[in-house]
Amino acid sequence: MSAYADRLEVLAAEAADRCTGCGKCFEVCPTAREIGMDVAGAKDRVGELLALTRGAAPAETLQKWLNACDGSARCSAACPEEINVRQWVTIAKMKALEATRPRSEGATNAANRFRHMAQSVRLLASMQLPSDTLQRILAPAEQRTADVLFYTGCNVLRTPHIVLNVMDILDALELDFDVVGGTAHCCGVYQFQEADLPTYERMGHRTFQRFGQSGASKVLTWCPTCTKNFDELEKDVEPPAFDLGHVSEFLASNLETLKARFRPDQPKRRVVIHEHLGIGATLQSIGTLLKAVPNLELVELPQDSGFSYACGGQAAKFKDREAAIHRALHHAGVARGLYRLGAGVFRRRAGDSRTAISRAAWHRCGGAAIVSTAVRRRRDDVSTGPVSRCT
Ligand code: SF4
Ligand code: SF4
Repeated sequence: MSAYADRLEVLAAEAADRCTGCGKCFEVCPTAREIGMDVAGAKDRVGELLALTRGAAPAETLQKWLNACDGSARCSAACPEEINVRQWVTIAKMKALEATRPRSEGATNAANRFRHMAQSVRLLASMQLPSDTLQRILAPAEQRTADVLFYTGCNVLRTPHIVLNVMDILDALELDFDVVGGTAHCCGVYQFQEADLPTYERMGHRTFQRFGQSGASKVLTWCPTCTKNFDELEKDVEPPAFDLGHVSEFLASNLETLKARFRPDQPKRRVVIHEHLGIGATLQSIGTLLKAVPNLELVELPQDSGFSYACGGQAAKFKDREAAIHRALHHAGVARGLYRLGAGVFRRRAGDSRTAISRAAWHRCGGAAIVSTAVRRRRDDVSTGPVSRCT
């Protein structure tokens, strides 16, 4: 067993030692209910989790629970002992897979999933980004010299306007920052999920080490999955020499500086956030940022935010449920006169009086786009400034 695998074992064993077996984590688990597992079995399921962690073979009922997990972190929020139950479940699921199928099967699955993702990332990023910007993002992390690294992960490069928007915001803060991402800096999620730990160590674990080798004092993440992985499978396993946090939390902590950069001539907008819990304080941070944008009203809508930590990915295991949540939010937004559905937000432009909403009127829109527009300088203001590097 590698030193990294040993440390994961220690992390799970510590959770087991602190657990009182109360069962509250299972009682609140939305995906256990989704697959019809009875709340009455809560203490038994936790007993099986404890047994697996202490070396027993995984019980079938436990595997059913673990396989359904979509990372919502409701269990961690409910635990009276403040155990990071989601992390424990993630490690347990990997152990259960290791115990019940040949590693080669998981390795093949992980390789296929990675290849599929990497092909589309390479194609879409190269079609949409100028080659010098792309080269800058792909350059090896350990060769960077900036104090702050903005880590994009792989997947977001399929929609690189998000990366460019965040870069514009970081430019506005006049930070010494650099951007790193692409498939050579993968967080290794597929390998961990498929229990191919040796390859995970060469990918995700190695990527995290490369951040440290750069000497950066801060690494800002974007992708929720990368954030969750590095938080739970790296930062907790061995504390890094740098601060790790989601970029939205960092921006919210620099709100006063950002506000001074906001241009007052923003269009009037009414915005609602499509909420997901489970990734630190990202939801609160995005709300804080949006509320500070001139002429923007943040509309609160009741919504089901307790499933998974993001759309797609693990949440897509329950497609009907995901579609129902989106549909309900869509209808609630329409009822409140909002007309654009986004990955992150709905918004309504001032003066728009339409009441009949056609599906074609809806399109993706994100918080980073709104904030970056608010801070963006006119291009003729920045003939040689940092913004010009990424346009
Ligand atoms: S993270 Fe969410 S889905 Fe997974 S076990 Fe915990 S409550 Fe259930
Ligand atoms: S809620 Fe916490 S203490 Fe209770 S069974 Fe779950 S992990 Fe153990």
